[in-house]
Amino acid sequence: MKFDKSVFSELVQFLEKSEIDNPMAPFIKPQEVNEKLDIALNEEGISSQQLVEILKNIVVSTPKTSSNRFFNQLFGGRNSEAVLGDLLATVLNNSMYTYKVAGPQVIIEKEVINQTLKLAGYSTSGSGTIAPGGSMCNMMACIMARDLKHNKVRAEGVLHKMTIYTSQESHYSITKNAAFIGVGMNNVRKIETNSMGEMLPEALEKQIEKDLKNGFVPFFINVTAGTTVLGAFDPIVPTVAIAQKFDLWVHVDGAYFGGVLWSRKYKYLLNGIETTNSFSVNAHKMLGTPLSCSILVTQHKNQLFESFSSEASYLYQTDDEEFNPGKISMQCGRRNDALKIWTIWKSRGHLGMEKLVDHLFYLAKTAYDYVINHQDYQVYSNQPSLSVCFNYKNISAEKICTQLYEDSTLMVGYGSFREDVFIRLILVNGNNSQQDILNFFQVLEAQTYENLAIEK
Ligand SMILES: *Cc1c(COP(=O)(O)O)cnc(C)c1O
Repeated sequence: MKFDKSVFSELVQFLEKSEIDNPMAPFIKPQEVNEKLDIALNEEGISSQQLVEILKNIVVSTPKTSSNRFFNQLFGGRNSEAVLGDLLATVLNNSMYTYKVAGPQVIIEKEVINQTLKLAGYSTSGSGTIAPGGSMCNMMACIMARDLKHNKVRAEGVLHKMTIYTSQESHYSITKNAAFIGVGMNNVRKIETNSMGEMLPEALEKQIEKDLKNGFVPFFINVTAGTTVLGAFDPIVPTVAIAQKFDLWVHVDGAYFGGVLWSRKYKYLLNGIETTNSFSVNAHKMLGTPLSCSILVTQHKNQLFESFSSEASYLYQTDDEEFNPGKISMQCGRRNDALKIWTIWKSRGHLGMEKLVDHLFYLAKTAYDYVINHQDYQVYSNQPSLSVCFNYKNISAEKICTQLYEDSTLMVGYGSFREDVFIRLILVNGNNSQQDILNFFQVLEAQTYENLAIEK
């Protein structure tokens, strides 16, 4: 390698120190980045020492998603075991389509999938894959459901007016995917939710009946386990009962909160999951791996193969189908995202993973108790959830979040549910302590906000 290991560890040490010294990157307007950092690509190259210096400046200015000031997204924090797995995957640089090219990495992925099948209560003769993101897992589930409904779709295209059901609070990927897979965005039915943001089974059933009467072909229900804003759980048991009545596929989008399966204390939130058709979880959200690590499992091993296999004699030249996972993936070359969840899971065991999940709920409870017990706050979310949603002193959430960001004090975002807009504090960094959460509120309260009242 052109860079020896010391250069690499120098950069990593620099990053770690920079995170402690400046947990928030300085705010730079996007239009000003090129003035402050040397990013332009030029005719001539530069020395490795120059490159390292430039990279250091870039590191300082890049948002620190692992710091205890970052609560902005559904991921955060850094766990060394998982990072080690991810770095090794990069250095090894296998592609996860054949056993010939990836060797034991294929067996590692299979172990992760088998253990996830077990946790979901699916038969271990089910199957699964690791896809490049939760949106893609949702798409793969939807494609399997579509093809199971009409097995000629793959060859002939979508010939029926097929319909998809998901709650109003579900992730936007469901709608995007409907466009991608030929079903059409207008054929996504956004089902009403109750005041907690959970899909209403009665409204779902009514909509399906109406569509059937009008000649549509319902085929897919998406159940969200942890909605993106409030972290609500759609009820699985009544949804599956409806699905069985009309012969529809039920997918559980556990991108955000699927990690509850790793905890004996919280897995009840997914009661009934063993009766669903597919389930996906983003290990890079609750389970502490770097982006991205998205696991999809299904009870329908044959359907996964039917929907995603294709012949390629230049690729598949050895071994049983069973060990060539390229036959059940969306893409051809596929990054090894299995190793990072395997390394953290292997090193901590089931019990350590459970501890991580339980700790996140403890942090969330800490934040929830804080806002519910302080009169300057108005609360919009419920427990248990890793999203704690609130407003502070009747000041506009958008303005608070923007000011905290531009002043380089905190990274936190806002969300909305029905008419309310509020700050959405996300507790997914397992390295945070109770004190880190209380510090969040201290910093938020220490800021002076002027002329920021909510405009009514
Ligand atoms: C994050 C999220 C997704 C999308 O996952 P990506 O990995 O970002 O594609 C889907 N559904 C829910 C509920 C999510 O929270």
